[in-house]
Amino acid sequence: MTLRITQYGESVLHQKGKTVQSFDNELTQLSKDMLEAMHQVQGIGLAAQQVGKAIRFCVVDVPDHPDYPMACIVDGKPLSPSLLMPMSLANPEVTALPSDEYYYEEGCLSFPEIRGDVARPERILVRYQDLDGAQHELECDGLLARCIQHEADHLDGILFTERMEKEVYAEIKSEVKALKKKTLHTLKEGKLPQVPIPEPEE
Ligand SMILES: [Zn+2]
Repeated sequence: MTLRITQYGESVLHQKGKTVQSFDNELTQLSKDMLEAMHQVQGIGLAAQQVGKAIRFCVVDVPDHPDYPMACIVDGKPLSPSLLMPMSLANPEVTALPSDEYYYEEGCLSFPEIRGDVARPERILVRYQDLDGAQHELECDGLLARCIQHEADHLDGILFTERMEKEVYAEIKSEVKALKKKTLHTLKEGKLPQVPIPEPEE
């Protein structure tokens, strides 16, 4: 079953997730379904709120970039990010490590075609549980650190637009409002808002 990705204007996106307590087949299936839905729209991260579930669970699949290699240390051991992906993170707790904040233009599958600069720490430590409930610690930087911070925010009901500085948000405010209006209109008609599926690249 392909999961529908919730769109801005749907209340679940503002809900704080409940702690994941059952590491069962249902969670494994949810992880598979979320990755499938995310890959279909070429995303690199997806939070449970974005498939209509207010729980503390997200998936990420961040490609390494030859020009900007990411450093990953899992449970104290350096690991190539490609061996780590795709990742399922239950109950992630993010701590910023000493590093500079930097701006990066983020997007979000619940805000199709809307992008804006967000400042976040460059390096993080994230404690999380895997699909078996085992605890792990991941230290990472670059796009992976960025993506995990964005997804962990979703689990608290915080959206990337709320992290933008006033001036940045001002530039996209009308698009954000129009999206909310469209979502509410679709719901009012008894339909479910959908993220547009991009055309495959030639
Ligand atoms: Zn998002």
